[in-house]
Amino acid sequence: MQILNFLFPKHCINCAQSGEYLCLDCKKKLVAHPEICPYCHTYNRFYQTCFTCKNKKNNYLSWLIIAFVYDKILKNLIFKVKYFHKKDIAEFLAQRLFLVIQTNQLLQYQTNVLNEETLISYVPSHRYRKHFIKWYNPSREIAKLLAQKLRLNLINIVKKTRNTRQQVTLTKSQREANLSDAFQLIKNSHLQWNETIIFIDDITTTWSTLNEIAKTIKKEYPQISIWWAVLWRHDS
Ligand SMILES: [Zn+2]
Ligand SMILES: [Zn+2]
Repeated sequence: MQILNFLFPKHCINCAQSGEYLCLDCKKKLVAHPEICPYCHTYNRFYQTCFTCKNKKNNYLSWLIIAFVYDKILKNLIFKVKYFHKKDIAEFLAQRLFLVIQTNQLLQYQTNVLNEETLISYVPSHRYRKHFIKWYNPSREIAKLLAQKLRLNLINIVKKTRNTRQQVTLTKSQREANLSDAFQLIKNSHLQWNETIIFIDDITTTWSTLNEIAKTIKKEYPQISIWWAVLWRHDS
């Protein structure tokens, strides 16, 4: 490892200090995201969907943990994981998610300190198809590392049934139409009725994607608890 560092010295992506991809000073600049309802963004403990939003039609997300407040440092970190496959950065991001999950008392309570009925999954790869690295999905990479840390099984639960347009450029109703039935359960995922799934996503998707995946799972397994853990909030 030291030889590698010698041959390819690491520099902080933010301040260029040598040693690590993100130096300690810049790590401190990443701020934890406040606990809010994923729909109306008002304060709500444990990142739960608030009572009003929970009762609205087509709201399928119950909990959405957001690790960081959006910051250009974070954007750069994810860029490096996505396009340059930097394992150490994925490791750092997974460690942060691990801490946020470990300190969420509601999640800990629900899963009885994360027992074997809890699974880790990730939002399937999409939008990367046109790029030169077709197979790389940063969400999967981070989910894999997180599963190891939590000692939980990693499974792929949903797949995309068709290509969809980039969500960011669409209006709310266009998004819903764009994503309608775009996901499908993978046949041999063998879910149990009482499981808890922690879904990981990086920055690229909008809430509508997460909502649509939750809807797809809930249709067949209404009892399953789905938690979402994302790195930052994509404002939409
Ligand atoms: Zn730095
Ligand atoms: Zn709300």
